Amino acid sequence: MAKINDYNFKNQKAIVRVDFNVPLNEDGTISDDTRIRGALPTLKKILNDGGSLIIMSHMGKPKGKVNPKMSLSQIKDAVAKALGTEVQFAEDCAKAADKAAALKPGDVLLLENLRFHPEEEGKPVGIDKEDPAYDAAKKEMKERQKEFAKTLARYADVYVNDAFGTAHRRHASTAVVADYFDTDHKMLGYLMENEVKAVDNILKDIKHPFTAIMGGSKVSTKIGIIENLMDKVDNLILCGGMTYTFAKAMGGHVGNSLCENDKLDLALDIIKKAKEKGVNLLLGTDCIAADAFDNNANTMVVSVKEIPDGWEGLDAGPETRKKFRDAIVNAKTILWNGPAGVFEFDNFTGGSRAIADAIVEATANGAFSLVGGGDSVACINKFGLADKVSYVSTGGGALLEAIEGKELPGVAAVK
Ligand code: AMP
Repeated sequence: MAKINDYNFKNQKAIVRVDFNVPLNEDGTISDDTRIRGALPTLKKILNDGGSLIIMSHMGKPKGKVNPKMSLSQIKDAVAKALGTEVQFAEDCAKAADKAAALKPGDVLLLENLRFHPEEEGKPVGIDKEDPAYDAAKKEMKERQKEFAKTLARYADVYVNDAFGTAHRRHASTAVVADYFDTDHKMLGYLMENEVKAVDNILKDIKHPFTAIMGGSKVSTKIGIIENLMDKVDNLILCGGMTYTFAKAMGGHVGNSLCENDKLDLALDIIKKAKEKGVNLLLGTDCIAADAFDNNANTMVVSVKEIPDGWEGLDAGPETRKKFRDAIVNAKTILWNGPAGVFEFDNFTGGSRAIADAIVEATANGAFSLVGGGDSVACINKFGLADKVSYVSTGGGALLEAIEGKELPGVAAVK
């Protein structure tokens, strides 16, 4: 695998997979351009070296069909503005050979949404998985995916993958295309390199004590990560909605709180494993319970094991926050995934805020802190603290799979 920083793109055509799946307003304007800004270091390096750019991305889930609402033409001007240069557009990403061939150093060509072609995702469309013909259709689609990837590969001399958000997918543009470049002509972009390094900091180059904070709604969606972290962490904080599955599993009464009744055994198993492995497992002991799932509901502080019927735990209580804080401020490595309460309601942000503040304090004292995987990013942004932690990941599912210990196809393909 080549290294982007060492590579000279002079007179080279680079095809770069980015994640420009930006949220749009009703009128087609961009509501949050974080993803475009995230790709700029890579795109600018290529242009500054004297290369030309073929930028490719998906947007939304058009399911293999052209859908003007998900056209990347809507963001062409924003990309041009961000790069400070004109951007050409190819209406069909699979028919851009002439435009790509005509590119001169410094030119930029943006391809239309890759997912307008079913070959990008490589899943057969319009056929049910139960259908006896499904396997044959899947095989045929995989062949078509290779051809599609080959078409994209022919546009350029070098392939750069900077789309961490889709790195957990083996799609034509994220992985298959890399098969058509030799090792010296494929690489990760800067954003991808940073994401991979951040994950390595919490899975490989760990400085102890390591505190992981897993929150969010359900234990079932986090179990893969919890299991992988169990061998690495010193302190494991489990908070958010999953608190009540644990409380009930330990014989508590959780009222109307979120609770996965079919995961009580799993909760007990996690407690047992933590003990066996010498991991300090921290669970919520008190909570802010509410009499409705509403920002303005009546509230009380109560033990997580004694929540009356008609009440539900929506945030961590004061005793819990203190306990969590102590395990965070002294840590040297910190991972935070998932809020400690229903942070979308302003009155139930306190637990998440206490976690964020403790992470900021530990980071200021030299800890490495990684925040990522969906809602904790929204949370840290809501608090305006994103620049006070070491790294905020741009990947949702990709980050979670990486932390589970799975090799990401988008990274493996360029290696
Ligand atoms: P996840 O996507 O699994 O990380 O879950 C994030 C969601 O969990 C957020 O929308 C939070 O509002 C929600 N959440 C956190 N704590 C609770 C709770 N105690 N009860 C219900 N939902 C919660």
